[in-house]
Amino acid sequence: MVEFLSLKNLNGQYRDELLQACAQVIDSGWYINGTALKGFEQGFAEYCGVKHCIGVANGLDALTLTLKAWKILGLLQEGDEVIVPANTYIASVLAVSESGLTPVLVEPDEVSFNLEPGAVRAAISERTRVILPVHLYGRAAPMAALKAIAEEFDLLILEDSAQAHGAAVDGKRVGGWGHASGFSFYPGKNLGALGDGGAITTNDSALAEVLNALRNYGSHEKYKNVYVGVNSRLDEIQAAMLDVKLKYLDQEVARRRQIASAYSTGISNPHLVLPSHGEADQHVWHLYVVCTSSRAALQAHLLEQGVQTLVHYPIPPHKQQAYQQLNHLSLPVTERLHEQVLSLPMDPTLDDASVQRVIAACNSFAPV
Ligand SMILES: *Cc1c(COP(=O)(O)O)cnc(C)c1O
Repeated sequence: MVEFLSLKNLNGQYRDELLQACAQVIDSGWYINGTALKGFEQGFAEYCGVKHCIGVANGLDALTLTLKAWKILGLLQEGDEVIVPANTYIASVLAVSESGLTPVLVEPDEVSFNLEPGAVRAAISERTRVILPVHLYGRAAPMAALKAIAEEFDLLILEDSAQAHGAAVDGKRVGGWGHASGFSFYPGKNLGALGDGGAITTNDSALAEVLNALRNYGSHEKYKNVYVGVNSRLDEIQAAMLDVKLKYLDQEVARRRQIASAYSTGISNPHLVLPSHGEADQHVWHLYVVCTSSRAALQAHLLEQGVQTLVHYPIPPHKQQAYQQLNHLSLPVTERLHEQVLSLPMDPTLDDASVQRVIAACNSFAPV
């Protein structure tokens, strides 16, 4: 079986180094908000080309706490609108509702799966305060155009970079384009911890200071609480794991790109629409997503050929039971994508023979 993603193989590559880093944390006797966190925050800020990185418990909190911090700073008010791509993973939308803001779902571009500047412009109202671009499947959104719109309408940009560590537009990495950016280090993400983790990157020192306190009960100084904060911290042990894995991120991205190129060159079945690659460095291939009008049959065929696939995602946020107030919306592009997308195995540890097996299995598919 060609697995979709083997976390065991992936982390197994660094087993000795991870164990050594674990031992260091254990022996330090300090497990929260210590030197491992500081070290990783500094390393990841440098990697993204920004001044500040604030580690938090997960990617959802990274987005939610940033929006809450902007409210504290007086930049946002209850009920303000946030433009979000309708085909995103639901966490992007949950962060908006959880912060007391209103998500405005916008149809994506069908080729890039990302926000389309024209559609964003059309969705701007009197209450719009934030654009939340999601670098979906690892492909950076069109940040230069979105930034121009944000400047024209005086809007904030919060990047959802949970799937796109290291992706770049015009040579500048995601995480450094928006006023702030949320990252996830969920184990299956391109930079994954051995448990939950997340971070915010920003060049805004005032925002960084509020976030530093917000994640820690709203406190800068022990037992002095300036905000109604939460407990959302990136553990020392996870920061230490991430510090090891950050060193190998670019190498893993390079292998993801090789696999994506091999798929795009090798798969020639007219029943599959292959993903577009974009500009150089734009895509870090968190997922390689094909579209087909016979998804169930393709998925069954691939499984029969020993190839495991997944669907990202089967139900769009506006059709979820959790969002009954959005269920009436008609978003035909988003709804079609959710019926047609299928993610092929994408794992930097896949060997060439497995990649060829996936290609052959795709090419031997014929819908009945
Ligand atoms: C994974 C993900 C998140 C949430 O990250 P968690 O760490 O799982 O909370 C947010 N947005 C997108 C696009 C994601 O893929």
